[in-house]
Amino acid sequence: MMLVDGDAGSTSDWDDRWNHIKKFLERSGPFMHPDFEPSTESLQFMLETCKILVIGAGGLGCELLKNLALSGFRNIHVVDMDNIDVSNLNRQFLFRAKDVGRPKADVAADFINSRVPGCFCPSFYLYLEFHIIVCGLDSIVARRWMNGMLLSLLVYEDGVLDPSSIIPLIDGGTEGFKGNARVILPGMTACIDCTLELYPPQINFPMCTIASMPRLPEHCIEYVRILQWPKEMPFGDDMALDGDDPEHIQWVYQKSLERAAEFSITGVTYRLTQGVVKRIIPAVASTNAAIAAACATEVFKIASSAYLPLNNYMVFNDVDGLYTYTFEAERKENCSACSQVPSDLHFSPSSKLQEVLDYLTESTSLQMKSPAITTTMDGKNKTLYLQSVASIEQRTRPNLTKTLKELGLADGQELAVADVTTPQTVLFKLCFTS
Ligand SMILES: [Zn+2]
Repeated sequence: MMLVDGDAGSTSDWDDRWNHIKKFLERSGPFMHPDFEPSTESLQFMLETCKILVIGAGGLGCELLKNLALSGFRNIHVVDMDNIDVSNLNRQFLFRAKDVGRPKADVAADFINSRVPGCFCPSFYLYLEFHIIVCGLDSIVARRWMNGMLLSLLVYEDGVLDPSSIIPLIDGGTEGFKGNARVILPGMTACIDCTLELYPPQINFPMCTIASMPRLPEHCIEYVRILQWPKEMPFGDDMALDGDDPEHIQWVYQKSLERAAEFSITGVTYRLTQGVVKRIIPAVASTNAAIAAACATEVFKIASSAYLPLNNYMVFNDVDGLYTYTFEAERKENCSACSQVPSDLHFSPSSKLQEVLDYLTESTSLQMKSPAITTTMDGKNKTLYLQSVASIEQRTRPNLTKTLKELGLADGQELAVADVTTPQTVLFKLCFTS
């Protein structure tokens, strides 16, 4: 965690430094926000007051930091847990070969500070301090966690949202030649979890599914990768599967097709095979640049109030030509993250706890990773299942094969579920079906 901080009003400003920004803020124009009065105040706010948190200092993050610093934001904090890898250097342009191994956030902040005069970094912060948060992440879990964090900061009085508690979240995402940028006003517009179905499905599957009951093309590819390759060693002993070797991928692809045919599963392609085997999201520098530019523009629009923000989801695709459109993602009435309504879980009393667990991880609208389920019984907290602590996992594992009735759960019982996808506990209401 590092800060790119404007030493506001310092000697580092030269005449006309912000002329390009002033054109947007100090004169009116046809695209201006209807309530905006051009003045010098917006620029002062951006330069001196506005505090931005950039999450991720990778491909998108480097672009975002550069764009924001050059747009006049001088109080930019950046957080990233990764260290720099040599493979980042082609597009993560704030890093040099000498930086390999160092934390991304530190190096990115140093670079911006040295190249954009007036920009500087403390290491502790509260999310509450920020006016705007920008995410340039490749992890859906991290994105959902941040979404949940901002939702947890919302203040409701008599059920009415206090607008001053809203911290806008600008979220950018890219995958190869595709990308999206969105503006989220937590509690007001669709949140990350409202549109979870839009994200690609997970790529880590339970072994039993892969081995005995595949349903998706990915399951078939995983079967070949994990079980068949080590058994058959098609390229000689000790030859590890290499995702960059076309012959290896071709072999896995053919075997996956055979496996898929056995279970009448369609959708196995060479490209999908490579994607599953390599477990990577290909990075394209131009896509990152376009999406980061869109995100930085949204930050500028919100910080200055000079223009209406994107409403609220922009899709970008330059696989074949260039295609882009925007739409308004809608809030989901029963969103488990932002609706404030406990979701119902419909199960029969004879369902096993394992089925509830599977639902939490496999449902497209929940996509939890390692849910821990607790409930209250006779006024006491009871952990039904918890995976993250080995001793508790061992103790609660037998519950998975018990039915809900055997566990003493009643119709209408509240289940509290904790997961890495959110900082808050999600409440569910158990509804028995007959
Ligand atoms: Zn939501």
